[in-house]
Amino acid sequence: ARKPKVTVLGGGSWGTAVASIAARNTEVLQWLRDPDIAEAINTKHENPRYLPGMTLTRSLRATADLDQAVAAADVIVAAVPSQHLRGVLESVGEHVRPWIPVVSLVKGLEQGTSKRMTEIINEVLPGHPAGVLSGPNIAKEVVAGYAAAATIAMPDLTTATMLQGLFHVPWYRVYTSEDVLGVEIAGALKNPLAIAVGFGDGLGAGDNTRAMVITRALHELTRLGVAMGGRPETFTGLAGMGDLIATCTSPLSRNRTVGYELGRGKTLDDIIAGMNQVAEGVKSAGVVVSLARAHGVDTPIFDEVDAVINHGKSVESTYRGLLREAPGH
Ligand code: 13P
Repeated sequence: ARKPKVTVLGGGSWGTAVASIAARNTEVLQWLRDPDIAEAINTKHENPRYLPGMTLTRSLRATADLDQAVAAADVIVAAVPSQHLRGVLESVGEHVRPWIPVVSLVKGLEQGTSKRMTEIINEVLPGHPAGVLSGPNIAKEVVAGYAAAATIAMPDLTTATMLQGLFHVPWYRVYTSEDVLGVEIAGALKNPLAIAVGFGDGLGAGDNTRAMVITRALHELTRLGVAMGGRPETFTGLAGMGDLIATCTSPLSRNRTVGYELGRGKTLDDIIAGMNQVAEGVKSAGVVVSLARAHGVDTPIFDEVDAVINHGKSVESTYRGLLREAPGH
């Protein structure tokens, strides 16, 4: 039987990486806004803006024509920033073929509604199975061929297993799950937590401090994720602890970098102006705190990140208790 055709919506680094991987297994069409980048992918097998110098799978095709990209799809992969997903899906609604699965790669929450990306998919495209692919997956490392793994979560295991076969390659191992909510919320929650770890690193705190913050962050992520309906074991898995570790420690993480630069004294506006990608945790920090209050969960680390990002608190005062002078001074 013909393999399902995959359409990836979004031209960022992770959308491009997943498109390149899936193109080793099946026909893949990637939609992105910039026709010059589509052309570069088609002719030079490179995304010069987000993965410069890295060679993508030769069979990967890209287009700037959204309707055409969606009409061809047996599976849609959503890889646009969280605040744009609803608009993109609304604009393609009528071109999407009935019942096809939609997989989100987006690790964010919608401001204003506090919704998860699969909730948005279910609202805009009712009747389509909606799930997520998530794990400790720094895009450049996956494209470079270093071993990595992730979890694909769909509402039913049959669909998850079908999709697993589209994304699995020898160096990128995909596990299946039915815990869509847990896998998805873990991916969104780890971003503000990585900002918190970045604060400490930027201030020059030590390895003990980093380990403490990551450990307490995992507790906070798990408490809130379970209160929202996620399965406890999801949060010790790849999409939970795995992604938390990668994002909190990688110098390539956008979220950790935002925290780090704030810790070094830069302003948020300057940091964002200097990045050509989205650090989702900046947008979701406030949303997470309102979700935590709604679920009656105590979240001291999330609260501090929200206070710095949205309410002008200084990073130094956030870490003051952690940065006391050494005993004897
Ligand atoms: P950043 O968005 O912080 O770069 O995180 C990347 C990631 O999610 C790795 O799994």
